[in-house]
Amino acid sequence: MTDMLCRSIQEIENYHAHIYFDGVTEREHMLWLRDQLAQRFSVQLVDPIEQPVGMHPRPMLVVAFMPDQFSRLVPWLMLNRQELSVLIHPNTDNPLADHVSQAAWLGTPLLFPPNDQLPEGWRQPTSLKALGRAQPAVLVNTQPLASAVI
Ligand code: ZN
Repeated sequence: MTDMLCRSIQEIENYHAHIYFDGVTEREHMLWLRDQLAQRFSVQLVDPIEQPVGMHPRPMLVVAFMPDQFSRLVPWLMLNRQELSVLIHPNTDNPLADHVSQAAWLGTPLLFPPNDQLPEGWRQPTSLKALGRAQPAVLVNTQPLASAVI
């Protein structure tokens, strides 16, 4: 065990919650979650992605958030995701590991295709720094209501 590399949570720049949906009912629930999240948390919300892209096998909503939101946002999703599968992952220098082996699922895990079977443009890098890239910053675009119950 002495050869194991002990990683620090200081490596985590931010987090994503990928809220997957399939079909009309799940899409409505995703949109409801999106509205509720916007009222409660300081996060970056973007438009839902309506088709499977890259490694992601279903349409999804991606929620980006800073570590200070984690301890309230994740339990809130546990209680409110209902039938939706949600992938919570840290963003470090290694997007592939972040999504596949460092992630936590709420609900039923979805299967990702192996990285090397994806078209080249959709493969996740194993080091952003090696490519001269950086993790995108979280651009918070919600304004939580002071009165919202979490
Ligand atoms: Zn992600």
